[in-house]
Amino acid sequence: MSRIDLHLHTTHSDGSFRPSEVLALAKAASVTALAITDHDITSGLPEAIASGEALDIEVVPGVEISSFDGRSELHILGYYIDWQDSLFNDRLASLRASRHRRNPLIVERLRAEGLEVTYEEVQALAGTDAVGRPHIAQLLMKKRYVSSAKEAFDRYLAEGRPAYIARELPAPAEAIAWIREAKGLAVLAHPTWVKAAGSELATCIAGLKDQGLAGIEVHYSTHTKSQTTAYLNLSRQFNLLVTGGSDFHGLTKPDIGVGTGRGNLRVKPDLLTAMKEASIR
Ligand SMILES: [Zn+2]
Ligand SMILES: [Zn+2]
Repeated sequence: MSRIDLHLHTTHSDGSFRPSEVLALAKAASVTALAITDHDITSGLPEAIASGEALDIEVVPGVEISSFDGRSELHILGYYIDWQDSLFNDRLASLRASRHRRNPLIVERLRAEGLEVTYEEVQALAGTDAVGRPHIAQLLMKKRYVSSAKEAFDRYLAEGRPAYIARELPAPAEAIAWIREAKGLAVLAHPTWVKAAGSELATCIAGLKDQGLAGIEVHYSTHTKSQTTAYLNLSRQFNLLVTGGSDFHGLTKPDIGVGTGRGNLRVKPDLLTAMKEASIR
């Protein structure tokens, strides 16, 4: 049964597979269209587009930008962006620079906790300049300080834990504006990250829509049926596009498959029609 997957990470950010490898996995999972949405970077797109042509998979140019609204870290996906736009790429580069300042500080905190880790080891393991916390988690697993990436976050890396360092992040309005200026559609990723429920959640979504949000990631690997229904209702209430994806990262989230999430994800290809129409306007 054909499906699409609009949320995928590669080695260009914190995923463990190259774009061409992700496309091969997508082909095997009967994915007919996908978006590579690396964190704050578009450098994986040329390889993805070339592989897509070879494998007959439609590649939607994408990105995922981290933002903070004062209470929740919100990730904004950008689709059909003009990914070669130089202003857009300069903005992403400045976000990545702030992450580069953060990672060595996290490693220092871990050392203060008595863990023998160095930033050089993290970089060697990442094998890319897009070092992220999942790479640090991988190193802690490799050195047997923890038995899973989840445990690394729960014990050390998550907010409120000893090695947590806050990032300097743009406001959601800013991330949305950047995507729009690059002629893209801005979509709220994994909406469970919004720390609000009921009418407060609706107010938050209404506010994002006023700032230019075009859609909500209704279908997502970890969503329960009732969460999917709730976000579908919100998207209808605010006339927002419905999107969906697995948030595949490869080995750092081994339970999530390309196109299939935890096995029960199927994002229907026809959702792309409405997205394309909206992106042309
Ligand atoms: Zn995200
Ligand atoms: Zn993601």
